[in-house]
Amino acid sequence: MSEATKYRQLSFWHDSVPGTLEPGPSLEGTVEADVAIVGAGLTGMWTAYYLNQADPGLSIVLCEREIAGFGASGRNGGWCSALFPASLGKLDRMAGREAAVAMYEAMQQTVNEVGCVTIKEGIDCHWAKGGTVQFARSPTQLERAREEVDEARLYGFGETDVRLLSAEEARDLGGVSDVLGGVYTPHCAAIHPARLARGLSDLLRSRDVTIFEKTEVQRISPGLVETASGAVRARHVIRATEGYTPGLPGLRRAIVPVYSLVIATAPLSETIWDQIGLELRPTFSDMRHLIIYGQRTADGRLVFGGRGAPYHFGSAVRPSFDQVPAVFSDLRSTLIELFPVLRDVVVTHAWGGPIGIARDWCASVGLDPATGIGWAGGYVGDGLSTTNLAGRTLADLITGKDSDLTRLPWVGHRSPQWEPEPLRWAGINAGLRAMTWADHREARTGRPSAAASVFGRFLGG
Ligand SMILES: Cc1cc2nc3c(=O)[nH]c(=O)nc-3n(C[C@H](O)[C@H](O)[C@H](O)COP(=O)(O)OP(=O)(O)OC[C@H]3O[C@@H](n4cnc5c(N)ncnc54)[C@H](O)[C@@H]3O)c2cc1C
Repeated sequence: MSEATKYRQLSFWHDSVPGTLEPGPSLEGTVEADVAIVGAGLTGMWTAYYLNQADPGLSIVLCEREIAGFGASGRNGGWCSALFPASLGKLDRMAGREAAVAMYEAMQQTVNEVGCVTIKEGIDCHWAKGGTVQFARSPTQLERAREEVDEARLYGFGETDVRLLSAEEARDLGGVSDVLGGVYTPHCAAIHPARLARGLSDLLRSRDVTIFEKTEVQRISPGLVETASGAVRARHVIRATEGYTPGLPGLRRAIVPVYSLVIATAPLSETIWDQIGLELRPTFSDMRHLIIYGQRTADGRLVFGGRGAPYHFGSAVRPSFDQVPAVFSDLRSTLIELFPVLRDVVVTHAWGGPIGIARDWCASVGLDPATGIGWAGGYVGDGLSTTNLAGRTLADLITGKDSDLTRLPWVGHRSPQWEPEPLRWAGINAGLRAMTWADHREARTGRPSAAASVFGRFLGG
């Protein structure tokens, strides 16, 4: 099987992205650059994009172990949202109310920034800014919906940012079963993520940014990126490896990779879409503890994902972990539970990938001026747009520009290390099980379950 055929099989998105997936040239020997970036996902590529915009004379080199867009960036759920893994309350406690609000406003603006850049640069990523609807399908879920809106109001976000939906309003957006209400925010677009990632890599190459593919970085140190067949010497070195970070020396406990899994249906008939709705392609979920997420694609499928796959001992990441038949089967059942009209639905694609979680559940971006080493990540499942904010921020930090972005509270934030094994393995998997159990219990009894908050406390989320 050719390399390109292998990469096509990574996800529905890779299977349907235009252009070749044949890897580009690899690094051989030693090269000099102004900025070396490890990882050609959206964090690495947005950083390169904004650096090139700021100063087209800068030489920028990306080293990618597989191909650009191989990781989470090419295979996610396609929610380009304003979600940030740390809540407003948590950011307030960390950095104060004003900083918390500034962070959330920056996220909202970031959604529009991604939309504007893709239009300006001619990247057709099937952009549809239909917002997000979170359905509430039990009294406890409705209570959580109210709490979410109340928290937003406390920080001054009004009806145009987030609003509570009646059962009828929620049903008008999507024909989901057992709906009691929901929450709607306009700050989200549904996109085809591999079209964004591959479009960005083509654009960067056309602007003389170098992307070495099939180039595994073995070590990062000040001024130096080392691979088996060469090295990049650069004043600035950026680590943009998210869920794969624990594979780098010295970073085993910096981030944990937790798998999120996804299925895609065959294109659905117009009759079925008449019953499901989602006409403006709002992304959707409900308010259970163990996250689920879906989108109506531009070609009339449902792409639907969720957590629930186990965490692997030692923060291991392997291609075989992308496939968990029991979780795929649960996802299909949950989709049918949400939309009973899908009882005979055909699933054409099933895949997964690692998301990156910091110990305190707070994403961060930063550049150490002493070493010239920068990083961004810990986005949990909210990195699709956050990578763009990270890229713009890193560009400002590298070029020494003091801006509103470089003053946001996640800049320079240092999360604590994760626990050593086996505590890490035991704690995370117990937590994942507790959340599943809490959802089942709530569905059965109609009462909130305390089990999920135990997980929240362990993770600091
Ligand atoms: C299944 C799934 C669904 C998701 N859904 C959503 C969603 O709907 N909305 C949302 O906002 N977020 C979502 N996310 C999260 C989001 O996709 C990520 O947060 C984001 O893409 C991270 O981008 P990144 O560039 O930092 O990391 P990645 O895209 O993972 O890129 C890291 C790159 O580094 C490379 N690399 C790693 N180690 C090395 C090395 N040693 N040498 C060279 N290269 C290396 C990898 O091959 C990879 O290409 C989802 C993630 C997954 C897995």
